[in-house]
Amino acid sequence: MKLIPLPALNDNYIWMLHDGQNALVVDPGDAQPVLEALQHEGVQLKGILVTHHHPDHTAGVNLLRQITGAQVFGPARETMPEPLQRLHGGDKVDLLGLEFQVMDVPGHTAGHIAYFCDSVAGADASPLLFCGDTLFSGGCGRLFEGTPAQMLASLTQLSALPDNTQVCCTHEYTQSNLKFALEVEPDNLQLVDYQRHCQTLRAQGLPTLPSTIGQERQINPFLRSTQPTIMASARRFNATSVDQNGVFACLRLWKNQYT
Ligand code: ZN
Ligand code: FE
Repeated sequence: MKLIPLPALNDNYIWMLHDGQNALVVDPGDAQPVLEALQHEGVQLKGILVTHHHPDHTAGVNLLRQITGAQVFGPARETMPEPLQRLHGGDKVDLLGLEFQVMDVPGHTAGHIAYFCDSVAGADASPLLFCGDTLFSGGCGRLFEGTPAQMLASLTQLSALPDNTQVCCTHEYTQSNLKFALEVEPDNLQLVDYQRHCQTLRAQGLPTLPSTIGQERQINPFLRSTQPTIMASARRFNATSVDQNGVFACLRLWKNQYT
């Protein structure tokens, strides 16, 4: 299996997975980069997985479906380009001989889903997570349609996946996320190392993704809201953040205001 992040739009990645013959893509906000990659890799598009309804994740779906005949899968509870197979948390999708488990991860949007696969074979057989705009490296999505408690619950679910899970999120936001993460947790040495690593990658024009769940658990403040340092930072920003939900809500608000 080959996993390829296709840069699209401003700072999106459309993830492509293929076995040398058949391919799937996740969140095609633009058809063009996908069509080019299909030709370049010499593979046929069989499936399109969508995580949520935002146009930067769906705008390429209709054209790709038309040209390739690929089957489209997406969240049950959101407005989507039709026709598609609607999925709920707990459902399973079979594509390229792999089984993807659907997880409900509301917060960024009300019906946001993620796809997890732990049946990947081959040299790098670590599990895969396509999580859209829920979990980013060093950050998380904005709360457009959900509450902090919902997003915290969604991230807690993702955080419980195996450490070697490859986190395939949809935006290259890592560097600005890490700047904020260091503001919240300046003494986290793994965070300092990771920032240096990501700077090197970006300087070479390479993606910082996929990250891993194990890495994110060490450096992502939004997965670490029970850490004493982070709780203390949150309280410095807003004295009323008491329990874990409060600390998480405070971090999200602080990040919104931080540039
Ligand atoms: Zn979005
Ligand atoms: Fe997005």
